Amino acid sequence: MTADRLVTELAGTAGVAVRVREPLARYTSFKVGGPADYFVEATTVRGLTACLRVVERHGVPVLLLGNGSNLLVSDQGVRGAVLRLRGEFRTVRWHGSGAEVGAAHAVSRLVREAVRRGWGGLEFAEGIPGSVGGSLVMNAGAYGSEMERVVHRVDAVTAAGETLALGREELRFSYRETRLPRGAVVTRVEMALTPETPEVADARMRAVMTRRKESQPSGHPNFGSVFRNPPGDHAGRLIEASGLKGLRVGGAEISRRHANFIVNRGGARAQDVRRLIERVCSEVESRFSVTLQTEVRFAGEWPQ
Ligand SMILES: Cc1cc2nc3c(=O)[nH]c(=O)nc-3n(C[C@H](O)[C@H](O)[C@H](O)COP(=O)(O)OP(=O)(O)OC[C@H]3O[C@@H](n4cnc5c(N)ncnc54)[C@H](O)[C@@H]3O)c2cc1C
Repeated sequence: MTADRLVTELAGTAGVAVRVREPLARYTSFKVGGPADYFVEATTVRGLTACLRVVERHGVPVLLLGNGSNLLVSDQGVRGAVLRLRGEFRTVRWHGSGAEVGAAHAVSRLVREAVRRGWGGLEFAEGIPGSVGGSLVMNAGAYGSEMERVVHRVDAVTAAGETLALGREELRFSYRETRLPRGAVVTRVEMALTPETPEVADARMRAVMTRRKESQPSGHPNFGSVFRNPPGDHAGRLIEASGLKGLRVGGAEISRRHANFIVNRGGARAQDVRRLIERVCSEVESRFSVTLQTEVRFAGEWPQ
């Protein structure tokens, strides 16, 4: 089957839009990334299931894109389809024990709405610029809490286009990762929240905001913490103690404010970031015998 045929089939599917060779830099928080062969947006569950069946039949790999705030997309781009959810995946339904939230809903908006409605449990996520789906997959967390604490159930669609409901006991949560069936696309997340006085929740949320402002860089594109904290230590401390704050490759720089952040000082390429990451890993390994692991995920086709 030809690429033209794939595009024609996707374009003819209700609830699906497709673009060819769409540059991805505009969809990532670091503002880097070459083109996706096929950039596909699904606005309904029905469209999504149909679209996944089409791409599977064509044997085309699929990369899910949330808000792109934890993805380093290569300068050469992504071979295959990059899939983004929109439309009905952005909606929220509030109910007696919390909220049922579409995977494309912005976490920060959800936190604020929860606080306003008198629900507690999500304040830790204030300032996380991800989507609900991406944050579930990353088990995003901060200041002593993480998504695992609030997730009750997840709706997903398998790579073969079958819908799936997963109870929290079926989700394998760990540090910055939630294991889902291979290729599953998260469509909705059921959150169990705690009734709270809005003023109390608001104060907690503002405390998180203040802590972020005090410690994290702002003003330059980044993707939050680049490395996972190794057991019993902090990646930022090890990088700073290695004297790497301010180190620069091309337009990518280890933040002078927080060593576990890489910022785009302007014109950075994904390859600059990758080289900086490799340099940090080798310095920290040689000084402290600690192997750092990235929290940021690499996507696309990389030169060897
Ligand atoms: C300024 C800044 C601050 C940050 N602070 C924090 C923080 O405090 N704590 C923290 O944990 N992270 C933080 N991050 C990192 C990032 O925001 C989180 O990891 C976020 O949860 C990623 O969500 P996303 O929608 O951007 O996912 P993306 O980056 O788009 O994707 C992340 C992963 O999830 C997959 N994915 C996305 N959506 C779906 C879906 N619907 N179904 C299946 N798979 C999917 C992607 O394929 C990819 O593997 C920060 C980032 C920035 C830029």
